[in-house]
Order: sequence, then structure tokens, then C-alpha cells
Amino acid sequence: MRAVRNIRLCTKDCLCLYVCPTGATDTEDGQVDWKKCIGCGMCVKACPNGALSLVPEKYPVQQRHSKEVCDVLFAWAKIKVAAETEAKALASQAKDPVEKQFMKALETSFRRQTEDIYRECGYMLPQSANTRKLLNMMLEREQDPAFPREAVQKLLNELQVQLH
Ligand code: SF4
Ligand code: SF4
Repeated sequence: MRAVRNIRLCTKDCLCLYVCPTGATDTEDGQVDWKKCIGCGMCVKACPNGALSLVPEKYPVQQRHSKEVCDVLFAWAKIKVAAETEAKALASQAKDPVEKQFMKALETSFRRQTEDIYRECGYMLPQSANTRKLLNMMLEREQDPAFPREAVQKLLNELQVQLH
């Protein structure tokens, strides 16, 4: 395991810098230095903002799902997408701010559930062939100059494809 930092949640220069036994958290770019990180988890326990997490260095082998299971999950995802669309429409029509907020929360909740279902079916998993296909498509298309082409290429080189 190695630590990663969500820089959106990090308020900078506090506890992880003092508890890390190797100095891996003290970097110029805000990312944990994986060459130094030993995966002890001290920084994760110390961070007051939940900005640090431990992630596996190598992702586990993707579980194989039968077509029948995926078919059921995709049908379920379809229902969630319809519910999200409905909640979105109701949020845009709602006059009452509480109702609007509730519908927006529902919309987000249905979106997350759909994402979970797709992840469960092997889509959106970093180690899946689907993800590789998506990254390749992104490289082939004309992209905004800010598109991180090198990082995408690096991901493609480093990700091991398993199943599908
Ligand atoms: S997991 Fe341990 S070694 Fe790695 S950054 Fe956190 S405190 Fe440092
Ligand atoms: S302890 Fe958390 S909030 Fe503080 S510097 Fe480290 S990651 Fe950022």
C-alpha cells in the first residue's frame, strides 16, 4: 500500500509532515513521494481533513462476472439513469428551495449508484480493458492543449489489464 493525498482537502503544512517516518509527505508538488512511502498509514491516521488514503500499489485481479449478472446490473443501471433524469427535471422545476435541494441530492445519489453498478460490471476499473480502450480513444482524439497526454500514456504503460 502507498499513501495518496487529495489536495482539495489538504489545508497544508500540518500533521502528516511530522508523523511520516520517511518524509514522503513533504513534497513540492503536494503529492506523496511513492519512492519514500512505506505504506505505514501514520499520515492517514493523523490527517485532520481525511485528505490522505492508502491505495494498493498494484490493483487486485478484477473479479469475473457472468453475463447474466452483468445483464441484471445493466438493467438496474438503466433504472437508476432514468431516476436521475427524473430527479434532475424535478429539481429544475421545484420552487421550494428545500425540495430543490432534496431533488439535487437524489440526482447525485442515483448518479453514484449508476457509477457503482458500472464499476461492478468491470467498467471504470483502472485495470479493466474497458478503461484501456477509453484511454486509447482519448489519445487518438484531438484534445484541448491542457489534456495530460503524457500522464495518460504513462497510465497505459503501467496499468495491467486483467480479464475482459
Ligand atoms: S503511509 Fe507512512 S510512509 Fe507513507 S506517506 Fe504516510 S506516513 Fe509517510
Ligand atoms: S495532515 Fe492532511 S491536511 Fe495536513 S498537510 Fe497532511 S494531508 Fe494536508
